[in-house]
Amino acid sequence: MSRLTSDTLRIGDTDYPVHDAPLPGTWVCAALEKGYRLAARVIDRYHVALECQVCGTLNLARAFTLNKCRPVCKGCQFRKRQEEAQSVGLVYLGRDPDDPHYGRYRVTDCGHEIRRQFELIKRAIDGTTGVRCEICHRAREEEEACARGWRLVGPDPDGEPNYRLYVHEDGCGATQRIARVNMQTGRFACGTCGDVWSAKPSALYLMRFAAPDRSPVLKLGMSRDPDSRMRHQLGLPDHVEAGILRIVPMETGRAALVAEKRLHGELRRDYPGAVVPPEEFSDYLRVVSEIYDASLEPVILEMLDRVEAAGPQSG
Ligand SMILES: [Zn+2]
Ligand SMILES: [Zn+2]
Ligand SMILES: [Zn+2]
Repeated sequence: MSRLTSDTLRIGDTDYPVHDAPLPGTWVCAALEKGYRLAARVIDRYHVALECQVCGTLNLARAFTLNKCRPVCKGCQFRKRQEEAQSVGLVYLGRDPDDPHYGRYRVTDCGHEIRRQFELIKRAIDGTTGVRCEICHRAREEEEACARGWRLVGPDPDGEPNYRLYVHEDGCGATQRIARVNMQTGRFACGTCGDVWSAKPSALYLMRFAAPDRSPVLKLGMSRDPDSRMRHQLGLPDHVEAGILRIVPMETGRAALVAEKRLHGELRRDYPGAVVPPEEFSDYLRVVSEIYDASLEPVILEMLDRVEAAGPQSG
């Protein structure tokens, strides 16, 4: 496989001039010892082209590195990073052009692109750290707040990592620091208007969305005001048909939350194949999870019937 043209050699995406000088025997041996074939001298008397004996990739190296160290094969390194990424649910896309310690990855579950330190991927493989998609994570936190009638503004101004800053969007409009876990469970009150989300009536809902040329999907969720949730908070573009199939009033937000969690658990357990991955709707629906295939409509309607039959305080 001679990639030698008259006087240049293509390495990666670049053509390098061949440096017309004999290949010293010691360099040829050093290359073999380190897993390469010395293909040519390039650029000047300080550089060589090394062909990896494992993967065939041509690498540019300094003659000094060849003789004194162990040159890294870019092809083998790419393959290794691909394998490492795959083992933690990512697809390796290549190095970050701005920082040699970072790589670009696609998250297999949601399709988002993230950048991560190579070192962090190694730690994720060891299990000492997780790899989470911050785009989905942010969207999830926004949704949590939305479901309680609040809006996520951003991180806690006091720097407390478990707290966030929120606005009482469906209430008095006040801004408040709230622990994220309390936002999740609804166990907090608005310090300005006194509104306690978990104690006020709420509702479970089932919505149906149909974008043109796509299979329709269902969203099962809870909100004090499902209609406003659908119209204003989901970020629906005009071309998506949306409708509320069912609303089950619940006596308290707390009961609604418990019931909702139980239903999602049952659906994920009994119909894992009907859970639609975010990449199939994230372009038109501002939510990250708990979207189901439209074929589950009768199943979910029946579940909601059971919740309603059990009474308003059921959870
Ligand atoms: Zn290689
Ligand atoms: Zn994501
Ligand atoms: Zn308020």
